[in-house]
Amino acid sequence: MLAEPYQSLQNDLNTHIPPDRLITDPLRTLAYGTDASFYRLTPKLIVKVEDETEALAVMKACREHNVAITFRAAGTSLSGQALSDSVLMVLGPEGWRQHQINEDQSEITLGAGVLGVEANGYLAPFGKKIGPDPASINSAKIGGIVSNNACGMASGIEGNSMGTVSGMRLLLSDGTVLDTRDEDSRNAFLQQKKDDVDRLTALAQSLKNNPSVLERIQRKYEIKNTTGYSVSALVNFDDPIEMIEHLIIGSEGTLGFISEVTFRTLPEAGRKATALMLFPDIARACEAVLLLKECRVSAAELMDRVSLRSVQDKPGMPEYIKTLADSVTALLVETAADDTAALQEQVDEIAAKFADFPMVREFTFTTEPGQQQALWDIRKGLFPSACVARKKGTTVIIEDIAVPIDNLRDCLLELHKLFDQYAYENTIIWGHVFDGNVHFVLTPDLSDSAEIEKYKAFMDELVSLVVDKYDGSLKAEHGTGRNMAPFVKREWGDQIYEVMREIKAIFDPDNLLNPGVIINDDPEAHAKNIKPMTPAHDLVDTCTECGFCERNCMSHDFTLSARQRIVIYREMTRLAASGEDPARLVELKKEYVWYGERTCATDGLCALSCPVEIDTGKLIKSLRHDQLSPAARQIAAQMAKRMDTVTAVSRLGLNLVDFVHSILGTRLMTSISGWLRDLSGNRLPQWTPAMPKGGETVSRRAVGSSATDAVVYFPSCINRGMGPAGRAGAESLNIKTESLLLKAGFAVTYPENMDNLCCGMPFASKGIFETADQKALELGDALLSVSDNGRIPILCEMSPCLYHMKETLDPRLRLFEPIEFTLKYLAPRLDFEKVPVTVAIHTVCSAKKMGLEGDFLKLAKMCAENVVTPNVICCGFAGDRGFNVPELNAFGLRRLKSQLPPEVQTGYSTSRTCEIGLTTHSGVNYQSILYLVDECTRPKA
Ligand SMILES: Cc1cc2nc3c(=O)[nH]c(=O)nc-3n(C[C@H](O)[C@H](O)[C@H](O)COP(=O)(O)OP(=O)(O)OC[C@H]3O[C@@H](n4cnc5c(N)ncnc54)[C@H](O)[C@@H]3O)c2cc1C
Ligand code: SF4
Ligand code: SF4
Repeated sequence: MLAEPYQSLQNDLNTHIPPDRLITDPLRTLAYGTDASFYRLTPKLIVKVEDETEALAVMKACREHNVAITFRAAGTSLSGQALSDSVLMVLGPEGWRQHQINEDQSEITLGAGVLGVEANGYLAPFGKKIGPDPASINSAKIGGIVSNNACGMASGIEGNSMGTVSGMRLLLSDGTVLDTRDEDSRNAFLQQKKDDVDRLTALAQSLKNNPSVLERIQRKYEIKNTTGYSVSALVNFDDPIEMIEHLIIGSEGTLGFISEVTFRTLPEAGRKATALMLFPDIARACEAVLLLKECRVSAAELMDRVSLRSVQDKPGMPEYIKTLADSVTALLVETAADDTAALQEQVDEIAAKFADFPMVREFTFTTEPGQQQALWDIRKGLFPSACVARKKGTTVIIEDIAVPIDNLRDCLLELHKLFDQYAYENTIIWGHVFDGNVHFVLTPDLSDSAEIEKYKAFMDELVSLVVDKYDGSLKAEHGTGRNMAPFVKREWGDQIYEVMREIKAIFDPDNLLNPGVIINDDPEAHAKNIKPMTPAHDLVDTCTECGFCERNCMSHDFTLSARQRIVIYREMTRLAASGEDPARLVELKKEYVWYGERTCATDGLCALSCPVEIDTGKLIKSLRHDQLSPAARQIAAQMAKRMDTVTAVSRLGLNLVDFVHSILGTRLMTSISGWLRDLSGNRLPQWTPAMPKGGETVSRRAVGSSATDAVVYFPSCINRGMGPAGRAGAESLNIKTESLLLKAGFAVTYPENMDNLCCGMPFASKGIFETADQKALELGDALLSVSDNGRIPILCEMSPCLYHMKETLDPRLRLFEPIEFTLKYLAPRLDFEKVPVTVAIHTVCSAKKMGLEGDFLKLAKMCAENVVTPNVICCGFAGDRGFNVPELNAFGLRRLKSQLPPEVQTGYSTSRTCEIGLTTHSGVNYQSILYLVDECTRPKA
């Protein structure tokens, strides 16, 4: 039971929100108590809302029970603004995803839950983009981007939400809905809310009537500023609706809920040239910025020597970086244009400007994408390097100040002195200097109260420097949150701060919307509710809880995301070490079995979007390993020794089940197997009509003429055991693969003792590492021998097994899964004729990790007239988890069927187990791409 008034609130909400989206358990409330900041608050109740009706119901219930509410988009905020110790209303995964582009592509309308990167994906075919470009754009959602007025390297102050939003749909604290794009809605609002509108316009007038205040507001927004409310909205607009629309931007969920936003789109320049300019010191670099301001430059990123040093040893970094003197400062400069001639003119213009400027090295602009990427990798590597280099258990704090560009030089010099004074060593500085904006990273150990005191003292001096001395912004991009709330008054002065308080009172008279954020009377709010960062495991200790992994985590919104798995694991480690609350530890451990361990697909896709490449799946596998009983280890070891028997028995078992299915029919089989599974307490695997028959045995002998090119084919144990799903006449994949290789004129050889070989992946995914290693060793030896120490290429038809082999076996082996092998070895030997059908493809996680998504599409397009690529992160079948935890598979594929057009009859993939789930949840038969390759090819004439 929850404490009152939350229990009554939840009871009320039960009639509006399905129970699985009302979350109160200790594990998940803790998991959602984290955003990317260094604060933690644990909500009492989490509500996931999927549409406006639900959001309005939650806001109404909170109003009636006088309960505070915070909105959450992707939770990547850095200043503590996406947290709550009351109600956290989270954008659900299914709703808020609408988008619409107008006819001339000058505007795009987006639901609050669309990712920034998705918005740009919709616009890319038209050569357009949205204005806001935070570095977190791949993970942040529109609701969060607009509410934080987030922006980045290229947007400047013109391209951010303030400059490019042209309309929005808002839910206000009293339940009023305002659509600023709809005349009727505007008029109704002006009538119904006349008193509030009058108060707001009077406030605006008071600012406009005061020339010094007006001048101050205008001046402060000449550089980036997200401290406090966007009071520029009151002075830049006369229309009250436009004022409201722009006040909401950057209001961090404290004034209302944004449901939908319309942006003016910006052109995406077709051509770019990039250069790394190196200056003798920070002073020269800042002078250079003033010169660059006179040129057509789209981005100018400053990196000090400490920053450069943090990445200089990384692979691919230019050698000369290591040799630079300590004072050297870099500017990464990009200029963009629509055509080559214009671009060259701009490059020449910059070169001419710097002809006599003191520089450490000559610079040249490059338009070659690889070289451009290498230069941007320097900049993009800074933050991850700082995260990795920090001591275990320390916190990552990214500060985000801006000062008028003329003051940048002096401010940066003093900032360096401040770091020395506070012994914040190796503090990297980088920034979007055209906007006077620089970031720096502190990594204090905030579990130490002395460090908190030091941080407070540092902040006081930082505020003096930025505000009192240079009249800058304490937060340029990242929002005020809790971190700068105590200093808003100091930055803006009494009069404007009072206006901000009045704004809050108009929109949220009961102070229920995200209280404590932006307006906060507690002078120490920035040093309270600090999140513990207990060292927990080498595999995850570099995690900053930024949340970038969540968009790639298939179990996010089902149970936990990768970030949340780490959060809970850290807390369990902290509780175990401190002995603080044993009962809580027991409860978390119990719940973690399902939420953390059983429902992790261990696919490792989280590592692809993690700045520090953490594969949370590895943590989970290691926990599985630690929990294994001696008996389980022994059984696994015995099974591994007799893989031939294991595959033979599974073949037999599958054929038996298939036989029973043929007698009972699908309906009866489904209900009986479901009943048996229930009876066994979910220990028996889930049966589905997509369950395969037993596999056929491959020849195991070398076939084909020895005069032709050789290939080693290693059929995975999975395909040795499993055949196609009960379709009459279909061949097992290993038989099909062999005949395809022969058709292409290869001599096919098999490793010795093949029936006993296995890559070890099925064992490794269960944490049975010793057995997995043993099997990998055996396979490695056999493959080295049969491939003439790696001279002959090796094909394995299961991408997951092949990926595991690449990770574990001798690097001399030339290992290929079906996509790469077909493109490289089969395509030159076969004539392709597209089959006149529409097919679907699914790139499995291991193929994604090998970067084969584009190649798979290319291959499928060589084989079929039309190819569709439904958007699925990971199917969640996860080896055999699809049989044992079918809910995970169902969740992973919940959107698949609706994305398949009716003309799709067959889907293709490169993993037999994934195909079982894909078939079950789509109603379309999925099989290996090699079947399609065989169907559409003939030997070269
Ligand atoms: C490594 C890293 C780099 C970053 N780089 C940048 C950068 O370059 N520039 C930058 O500006 N920011 C940056 N950020 C900060 C952050 O990612 C952005 O501000 C981002 O836009 C937040 O979006 P979100 O979806 O995560 O929102 P959340 O964090 O979930 O929410 C942001 C705020 O909006 C409120 N909110 C959420 N949804 C709604 C809604 N529908 N209606 C009303 N209020 C709502 C929340 O209550 C909160 O106050 C970075 C963060 C990290 C971790
Ligand atoms: S695992 Fe990586 S991406 Fe996920 S929260 Fe941690 S640091 Fe961020
Ligand atoms: S391995 Fe997969 S399911 Fe597990 S945390 Fe990573 S992305 Fe999520």
